[in-house]
This record gives sequence, structure tokens and C-alpha cells, in this order.
Amino acid sequence: MQFKKFNLHPNVAAGVTAAGYVEPTPIQTQAIPVVMEGRDVMGLAQTGTGKTAAFALPILNRLMQGDRGHVRALVVAPTRELAEQIHESIVALGKQTRIRSVTVYGGVNINPQIDKLKRGVEVVVACPGRLLDHIGQGTIDLSRLEVLVLDEADQMFDMGFFPDIRRILKQLPPKRQTLLFSATMPDEIRKLAHEVLADPVTVQVGNTAPPVTVSHALYPVEQHLKTPLLLEILHHTDTESVLIFTRTKHRAKRLGEQLEKAGYKAASLQGNLSQNRRQAALDGFRDGTFQILVATDIAARGIDVSQVSHVFNYDIPDTAEAYVHRIGRTGRAAKSGDAFTLVTSEDGVMVRTIERKLNATIERRKVEGFDYTVPAPRKDIEFARPPRQPMPRRKPQEDKKISSHGGATHKPEGVKPHVPGRGAQPASSRTHVNRARRGN
Ligand code: AMP
Repeated sequence: MQFKKFNLHPNVAAGVTAAGYVEPTPIQTQAIPVVMEGRDVMGLAQTGTGKTAAFALPILNRLMQGDRGHVRALVVAPTRELAEQIHESIVALGKQTRIRSVTVYGGVNINPQIDKLKRGVEVVVACPGRLLDHIGQGTIDLSRLEVLVLDEADQMFDMGFFPDIRRILKQLPPKRQTLLFSATMPDEIRKLAHEVLADPVTVQVGNTAPPVTVSHALYPVEQHLKTPLLLEILHHTDTESVLIFTRTKHRAKRLGEQLEKAGYKAASLQGNLSQNRRQAALDGFRDGTFQILVATDIAARGIDVSQVSHVFNYDIPDTAEAYVHRIGRTGRAAKSGDAFTLVTSEDGVMVRTIERKLNATIERRKVEGFDYTVPAPRKDIEFARPPRQPMPRRKPQEDKKISSHGGATHKPEGVKPHVPGRGAQPASSRTHVNRARRGN
């Protein structure tokens, strides 16, 4: 099947050619004709399937007719990176259309956004929080909106955005076309779909199955050997771009630094960075300045880097859905990719859950020549040792180290203090959610 069959406006078709798309992907084949008919759509597709163009092309096509200079299409997405990516796709595909798009998200100065909105745009790609700021300040006029896209709806729910979404919906003309995209269909999404879609057509591509182009492997390892094992695997693997997921922002930052120290061109992407630095990390990863990007789930959501050859789960994700999302970053648009997961003995339950989801047993791999027997640093075995003998009397200056509880701090030389569970907040925790919200 060719794009010609859609009868896109020649200026929109020119964008498809310029992007180098030859054949539509399955989600495009299914969604483009129904969106062009003006129908509401429930799209069940994960990122990497070509869903952005599946809604962007019909929107651009529609906007070729009618007035310019006011907001006619609104795309709401969960993260700034995804919003930026959607905007870039719209700009690239709409290069010959003179249709203007603007991104609206937090963490950056609001004034340039206000200026662009004032000058007149037809498409707004927004994160919920900042969009509500504009609505509240009266700096955006959505009264003539024709098409609404809610992208990555399940992620927006996970991030606690649904109350914001409902507030936004109240500001939109009820007579409009609505497209709702989600990788999974939990009850909350079903409920939202019921509220916002009128007589929708459901289009679905392998909604919860990972891309077939990805091969999976598990690397059992003890927690303290994860970084050396990762370095060993990287050393022996032919990789292009590598995306590594950690559970916490702290660990993403630290691992990024360790990889840099080991000689890799690596950057980390996590919510504690300023928007400029997040964008620089992402741009550097896209243009090859950085070969490795270490990221948390939220920061990496929706990242499209088609040449990602390997996804590493340094920490296993909290849910099987998150696993599917993470590995959706590789094997995109029919390229093949590998998804490697480092697992500890505590990850057994999650491994089984993921295997059930994939409906397959994932291969367990051992790295030849890697010393799996290196014991944990002493701090980790301290608890297993018999009680200490009383310490010999200390020199006077050492007495300063006596803790306020009256006990001496016994720190063997060269061993860094261990802070159990430091930064080990689950990705789904409230704090995490709230920080993500503040950024938007
Ligand atoms: P998405 O799922 O929208 O994030 O798209 C994933 C990747 O597939 C992006 O790099 C797109 O540029 C690319 N892509 C989308 N549609 C096509 C197509 N018809 N042919 C080839 N690549 C495509």
C-alpha cells in the first residue's frame, strides 16, 4: 500500500516524501482514512509504530482548508520531550504547508510561547500543566478548536494528569473531532474514552505486545555487580545508540557519570535537569554526540531515536507495561533491536509477569569470563558479621568522629558510607509524580 491512496493534499504528500516514508505503517493504514473522514478514534498503539504521523498527516490535511491564524488542532502529551518530538514531526511533515505549530510546556519561559500564540498558530502541542496556565491567563484561545489529540493517555493517567485533562476538556468546544491514543487500555482509559469520544472507531496494532523486531535477554547478577557487568556487556557488544533505564533519577545521573568515566560518550536524562539540559542530552543522543543515554522512565517516555540498537534495563521496571514501553524505544519502525535486562534475585516475580505478558520465556545469559563471585563491598555484609570486639582507645582527634548517640563510627578505610535505599524511590511514587507534574 502506498501513501498515494490516502489522497493527501500535494503539499502534505510532499512532507511524507521528504520524511522518506515509502509505505504507511499498519497504524497509519488503519487510522489515516478514518481520521480523514472526521471520525473520533480510539488508537491502541505504542510509540514506535508510526502513530504520530497517523494523526499528524490527517490533521495537516484538514488544516489545508479553512482559516489560518487561530488554534485549530491541539495535541496533549505527557512529557516535554514527547511534545517536542510531536511538534518536530508536524513541522517536518508540514514543511510545504505553512501551517504553524507551537509547543507549550513548563520548565521554560512562558513569554516566547505567549508571543508565538499571539502571532497566530494552527497547531498547539502541549503538556497539561502549562496549557492550563495559558488557559488561566487567557493567553490561548481554544474556542475554535476542531481537533483534539490525547496522546499516550495511559502515561498521562499514571502521571496524575487526568484531573488536568478534565479541566482542559471543559474549555474546549464540544463539537470537535477527538483522537485518543494509548498503549494500554486500563479501566481509567476506557472511562475517559467513553467520556470524550463520540461513536469512535477503534484502531489497534499489537497494543500490548512489544515490537516483534526486538530480541530479549535477561542477565542475572547481584545488585553490586550491575555496573561492572553492564560495562562488560557494552565492551563486548556491537552497539549503535544505547538507551539505559534506571529506576531513580539519582541512579541515572550516577550511572551516566560512571559510563563517562569509563570512556563512553554518555549523558543522563532525568527530571532534575533543567529543560535546556534535558533537551541538550536528547539532541546529543539523537545526533550521535552521545552514544549512551541513561534515563528514568518518565524522562524517556516516547523518545524516538530510530537508531537505538540496544535498550538496557539497568533496573527492571515496576510493571510489565513499563517494560513494553521501554523496549518500544528500540526496534522502531521495523528496525531490529536488543533489550537486555539486568535482574537480581529479588526481581523473580516481575520477570515472570513480563514473561507472561510476552507469552514467552526470556533467554537467561551469563557473560563468559565475568567474575560473578566478587563479594559485595563490606558495607553489605556488615550485618552478617558477629558483633565487633570493643574498639581500642582512639587517638584524640578521632574522638571527633564519635556520633551524637555516643557510638563510634566504624568506617573501614576506603569503604564509602552506605546509605541503604538512598534514592530508591519507586518510579510510581507520589513524589515522583508530583515532580513530573510540576515540570509541566
Ligand atoms: P512514532 O511511533 O510516531 O514515534 O514513530 C516512530 C518512528 O517511525 C519515527 O522515527 C518516524 O519518523 C518513523 N515512521 C513513521 N511512519 C513511518 C513510515 N511510514 N515509514 C517509515 N518510518 C516511519
